[in-house]
Amino acid sequence: MSNLMPYAISTSEGRVISESPPKYRTEFQRDRDRIIHSSAFRRLEYKTQVFINHEGDLFRTRLTHSLEVAQVGRSVAHALNLNVDLVEAICLAHDLGHTPFGHVGQDELNHCLITAGFDGFEHNLQSLRIVDKLEERYAEFNGLNLTIETREGILKHCSLKNAQNLGALGERFINDKRPSLEAQLANIADELAYNYHDVDDGLRANLLTLEELQEVSIIKQQLNLVLSNYPNLTGRRLHKELVRSLINVTIYDLIETTRENIAQNDIKTLDDIKNAPMLVKYSEDMYESQRELKKFLHKNLYKHSSVMQLRFKAANIIRALFGAYMSEQLLLPNQFRVRIAEDGLHRVVADYISGMTDRYAFRQYNKLFTVESV
Ligand code: MG
Repeated sequence: MSNLMPYAISTSEGRVISESPPKYRTEFQRDRDRIIHSSAFRRLEYKTQVFINHEGDLFRTRLTHSLEVAQVGRSVAHALNLNVDLVEAICLAHDLGHTPFGHVGQDELNHCLITAGFDGFEHNLQSLRIVDKLEERYAEFNGLNLTIETREGILKHCSLKNAQNLGALGERFINDKRPSLEAQLANIADELAYNYHDVDDGLRANLLTLEELQEVSIIKQQLNLVLSNYPNLTGRRLHKELVRSLINVTIYDLIETTRENIAQNDIKTLDDIKNAPMLVKYSEDMYESQRELKKFLHKNLYKHSSVMQLRFKAANIIRALFGAYMSEQLLLPNQFRVRIAEDGLHRVVADYISGMTDRYAFRQYNKLFTVESV
């Protein structure tokens, strides 16, 4: 990567447990490969994004979402001459700690923990916990022993209280410093990818129509553009061209605005980035468009009655499982029970539930609460 910008991350500051350098890969390629081979990564295939995994073969899951985030991240990193391998590793790992059933799963688990008097559940922190501790596949260490740069990118938000327990990784939150451009990019690539694939999946599920989507100014604009190029286009191809056009225009804005921000802030070194404002950003107009789109999706897709039914069911399942395992720890598999003395029952229960796929959670619920499956 000889064309890296001087303010991009070029080498790693290291891993918690030091290892000899990889022979034919970069340190960040090694991170990426470890993430891909982890169990948590494979489980993303059966975790919901917005739609429950078995609703249809074509909807996004957390696995396909993570791959799309990595694709967006890589493209932008390449255009900005940032460290593509690092961005890819962060993007692929960013949702490893996600619960089953999408956001409602996380919200419910968080609520259960807090109501029971414990620290809550936060999926970024859980992703970090997985790569630092929970994966058990290497002879010499727990977790994946990733580089500090990848771990920094995974931990996109963190409360001050939690930051105090995270050592070097928590320092930037305590001292109010910005993370690397690679980490900033992975974060925004996540948002960019899910906004537009939710539009795509919403159209596919017939929960959204092109007509109502035109309430959102950027969609109306891009739809007009597509139709001016292809006046006779209809149906699925029109949906696809629209989504493609939306992603392109948004990525271009992100690349161009970030370039301007880097120039305007006179960024020369990595240190400059830590002390500057966030630089990987949309223009003000694009930021407004994204806000408008999010508001629309919130109202028309995430609160749609058929999505709400699933959310209601999912919350009940998470709550019931949490109550069951907290009241009887012998219901937990042995490999989880052995960690209770060190981590506390509540944290082990949160690890177990958050690690479940949608269908595994359904199955456990049926085993515990329905007569038919006895
Ligand atoms: Mg995500």
